[in-house]
Amino acid sequence: MIRVEGLVKRFGEIRAVDGVSFEVRSGEIYGLLGPNGAGKTTTFSMLAGLLGPDSGRITLDGIDIAEDPVGVKRGLGIVPQEVAVYEELTARENLRLWAGLYGLTGTALDQAVGRALDEVGLSGRSREPVERFSGGMKRRLNLSLGLVHRPKVILLDEPTVGIDPQARANILDVVRRVADAGAAVLYTTHYLEEAEQLCDRIGILDHGKLLAEGTLAELKEQVGEDEVVVLPPSLNRLFLKLTGRELRD
Ligand code: ATP
Repeated sequence: MIRVEGLVKRFGEIRAVDGVSFEVRSGEIYGLLGPNGAGKTTTFSMLAGLLGPDSGRITLDGIDIAEDPVGVKRGLGIVPQEVAVYEELTARENLRLWAGLYGLTGTALDQAVGRALDEVGLSGRSREPVERFSGGMKRRLNLSLGLVHRPKVILLDEPTVGIDPQARANILDVVRRVADAGAAVLYTTHYLEEAEQLCDRIGILDHGKLLAEGTLAELKEQVGEDEVVVLPPSLNRLFLKLTGRELRD
């Protein structure tokens, strides 16, 4: 469903993404986990078609995005890190706008908007201007805008940053449900707990490279008992949690 091969992006001297390859199957949530500056947003932006790679290949639902950058978008749901909603419009109007842009009309559009509002628990507040919403409600709406057209491939860039536990739980629950319904989901985060709780497989990214990849159990196995592992300080906590081991200086 999502296939990334040898992806590279440089900004001057910085290799923000440095030869990254991974796959995400239908029904799977793949967590791209890494500290600030690891290259998560740059990877996300290339998959979303917002940034062109220097080299490498991205295929989404069988379509090479370099060959058909417009066609690929029809089956793609994008949830950016920055909340991208019209504050002066209501939640329903925001959703109708997005659903229309994705080509939905008539009853199909009405149903899609109703379902999206229910899914994120905003049906009761759907006719209020978004400017009255809390941060968590805006994030939930932001999520539903990326899902309203039932995409087969979903890309989420740190969708729970800075929100209350209830909104966070709702977002994780919705993401799980869309994956269970068959979508392939790429989920970038720097929260280890979220990756553990939500993701079927995790890729650990740092300085633009995938350091390790697998299920949580596989990742734990990859770090053997007798190994000496030198990690950047940003990954120390992750290492401790995965292995249950003490850190030595
Ligand atoms: P965060 O969690 O802080 O968003 P990230 O893992 O998403 O971090 P990126 O935003 O992809 O990381 O950044 C990776 C590297 O590329 C960083 O060193 C960053 O400073 C650099 N970078 C990203 N975008 C640009 C740009 N437009 N111009 C120059 N450097 C950039």
